[in-house]
Parts: sequence; C-alpha cells; structure tokens
Amino acid sequence: MFETVIGLEVHVQLNTKTKLFCSCPTSFGEHQNSNTCPTCLALPGALPVVNKEAAIKAMRLGYAINANVNHTSHFDRKSYFYPDSPSAYQITQLAKAIVQKGEVFIDLEDGSQKRIGMTQAHLEADAGKNIHEGDHSKVDLNRSGTPLLEIVSNPDMRSSEEAVAFLKKLHSTVRYLDISDANMQEGSFRCDVNVSIRPKGQEAFGTRVEIKNINSFKFVAAAIAYEVQRQTEAYEDGVYDEEVYQETRLWDVEAGETRSMRGKEEAADYRYFPDPDLRPLIVTQEMIDEAKIMPELPDAKVKRYTEELGIKMYDALVITSDKEMAYYFEEMLEQGAVPKTAITWFTSELLGRLNKAGLSIENSPIDAKTLGTLVAKISDDTISGKGGKEILDHMMENESRDVDALIEELGLAQVSDDGAILDIIDEILANNQDKVEQYKSGKDKLFGFFVGQTMKASKGTANPGKVNELLKQRLS
Ligand code: ADP
Ligand code: MG
Ligand code: ZN
Repeated sequence: MFETVIGLEVHVQLNTKTKLFCSCPTSFGEHQNSNTCPTCLALPGALPVVNKEAAIKAMRLGYAINANVNHTSHFDRKSYFYPDSPSAYQITQLAKAIVQKGEVFIDLEDGSQKRIGMTQAHLEADAGKNIHEGDHSKVDLNRSGTPLLEIVSNPDMRSSEEAVAFLKKLHSTVRYLDISDANMQEGSFRCDVNVSIRPKGQEAFGTRVEIKNINSFKFVAAAIAYEVQRQTEAYEDGVYDEEVYQETRLWDVEAGETRSMRGKEEAADYRYFPDPDLRPLIVTQEMIDEAKIMPELPDAKVKRYTEELGIKMYDALVITSDKEMAYYFEEMLEQGAVPKTAITWFTSELLGRLNKAGLSIENSPIDAKTLGTLVAKISDDTISGKGGKEILDHMMENESRDVDALIEELGLAQVSDDGAILDIIDEILANNQDKVEQYKSGKDKLFGFFVGQTMKASKGTANPGKVNELLKQRLS
C-alpha cells in the first residue's frame, strides 16, 4: 500500500493598481504592449523600484496565516530565456522571502480540520505573453512585471481531497483579504502540484514530479489521481527508478493525462543570484500597521456562526467558503432576520432560484437587504413561509423590491388576530356538524381536515400556529 504526498505552489496575481517594479497599470485587456515602460520592457539602464502596495498585500497574507513577516527581505534573479521575458531573468525572492512559515487549516469532509504547514510566500514579477497565430508568434508585454505572490506549502497533504480543500481555503482567504481577485479562468490564481508516493510506513519521501500551471480545482484532482496511478504502477512493475524522476510535467486536459514537459536532461540552470539593482525590501511600521488591517476570516466566521448564531457546521462552512455569500448573509441579519431562518432562506430558497436561473450571488436580482427584510417578516408572522416564497418568485420575474408593497399587492398579510380567525373557524365547524361529532367521539385524524378548511377559507393567510391553537380550544 502507498501513501500520496502532495505539496503545492500557488501563484496569486496581486490586485495592485500598478506593476511590481514600475508604475505601469496592471489593467487587463488593454491594447497590446500599451501598459509598458523602459523598466518592464527591460531596456538597458531602466531601474526597478518596489511597489509598496504589493509588499503590504503580501504581508497581509503573512499575518492572516500566522507566518513570519520579514522586516527585511531580498530579491533575486532567476535566469532563463524565453521571448516573453525581455530581461532573460525573472525577479523573485529565493533565499529570504517577505513571508516565511505559517499555517493553513483545511476543512475535511467529516467536519474536522487539518493543519497544513507553509514554507513561504514570495513576491515575483510575472512574464508577458506569447501569442501564437498561424505560422508566427507575437509577444505582448502588458503583463510583464505584474506582481505575483507565490505561496508555497510544505508537503503536508496526503490525498487529492486534501489538496483541493487547501486550494479552496487559500482561494477564499486571498479573496477575503482582497489582495487578489483570484479569478481562475483569467489565471490570477493558478498552481503547481508536486506529487510523490511512498510505501505506507516509510519515512523518506519518494521522488516528486511537479505538474505546472493548473487553473481549476477539478483538474488538480484529476492530475493527482493520474500521477498517483502512474507512479504506483511503475513501483509495482519494478521500474519506479527509471520512470519516476524529478521532472516538470503538464496536465493535458484533452487527453486526461500528465505529460513530461522538461526531463531531467533539460533541467534548467536558473543561476540565482541577488539582484544588484534592488536594495533589500525593508518594511516600515506604517506598512505593518496597514497590512494588519484584516477582515474577519473564514475560520473565525465559522466559529462565530456555529457558536454564537447556532448555525450548523455544514451550513457555516458553505456560506463562509465565499466572501460574497458570507457578506450577503450578514447583511440579511442586519435587517432583523433570525440567523437560522435566514440561512435556510438564503441557501435553499435564494441559491436554489439563482442556480435555476444560472446566476451567481454577485449578480443576484434580489439583494441582501430585501431578502433580510422578507425573512424578518416571516419570523414575526407578518407573512407565512408560503407567502415568502411567492414574493421571491415574483421578484425573480418582476422589478419591484418593496417587500411591504408586495405583501399588500399579493394579499399575503397573515392574519394572526384571534377574532378574525375564530370567525372563520366557527363558520367551518357550523357547516360540518357531523365531522365535529365524529371528532369528539375519537376520530382524531379529522383535526387536520379542520385545519385545512380554515387555511383554505382564509386563502392561506391565517397564521397556522394560531389556527391550531384556536381549533384545539374550540373543539375541546
Ligand atoms: P523547488 O524549489 O525545486 O521548487 P521545493 O523544495 O521548494 O523545490 O519544493 C517545492 C514544492 O514541492 C513544495 O510545495 C514542497 O512542499 C513540495 N515537495 C517537496 N518534496 C516533495 C515530495 N517528496 N512529494 C511531494 N511534494 C513535495
Ligand atoms: Mg518550485
Ligand atoms: Zn512598466
């Protein structure tokens, strides 16, 4: 039997206004090579200057994951030649990164947590893009020099489920911290997956392969599964040493397999050395203070939701996994909605409807204030749950968001007034004398009939709790 060992390197594109070493904008989708200057074009003599905002955002992640934030860190040059990198080196942090160590807690299926140790998080400049068209290629350097934070974990994960849970937690964390939009389709959150296997019980790690640049949770899981099987088969066939060696592979989406990208023969020699153009990055107290301004993070939210709001662990994990959902839910509570009722209405009623309409929470036609108000009206019995659903359906199709006006317009105000309900009950009982007799002589089941008739006569507006209570009174 084998054990899987996984370590991840995640590249997060920081959402700074300008690039890491120059003041060119980082805006996406501009005309090719327009967001450039002598520095990010690597023209001779141009000098880099570190972007303070990028450093602060890296530090903020450091504080969020209980890491050491180094008050002095260094930049190194990693040499390689590729057309999209005009300097023929990448500026990165090798020996002394701005963030070292730290920990991320992942949420497992059974509701427990596991600690994943972190190695470091370092700042580095992204390369440009090669665009291949027919028989020629073009280079767009708009992305050249965009700040990346490379976040490296220890080899602490033991299954693809753990790896995906780690990525999801990190993804939501950087979004809460607002240091990256972490858009996976656009490549602002992508990862390299390091995978090895070892016989159960063996302490030494096996040989790892690195699968580069995967940008979806699904592909991460698939690539790990494929790689584990490949390595296991090699082991069992007695060809592990020949077939599994430290190399870079890529995930071929179409073929559903990992393929060798750079073999050990072609292992790159990066000739790392300290960048002589950049002085050490020294953080100031002002930067530290700004980096420590922190929103409430998912773990703290889950604790508060479960312990103070009485919400089930499962629901708390779902809602806090995405900041948009958590903020939506919290805004509902501000309208006076009861937490447990709010969560049901949010997860089953709203998310259900959005799902059907192919919408996400960000572009929900019903905002948190409106749903919160609606739920508060259900909790205080102004309307019934059924009435609430009717209003939601109405809102999905129509413009009006005025809850009070819709209650009026759709005639959904619930009657809780004893007198009005008793009038209806008395009429029902008078018209069904025979059934009243049967009920009194022991046919308990008829109670449901009386409730049903009363609700029907009230066109569903009578408060069901009240109807039950008053019927019991009258029939006893
Ligand atoms: P490099 O600098 O060559 O990329 P590192 O030692 O920094 O190598 O490791 C990079 C990543 O590989 C880290 O995320 C680490 O956790 C992971 N890793 C290291 N050894 C193993 C292994 N035997 N199996 C799986 N992952 C590993
Ligand atoms: Mg690496
Ligand atoms: Zn520039």
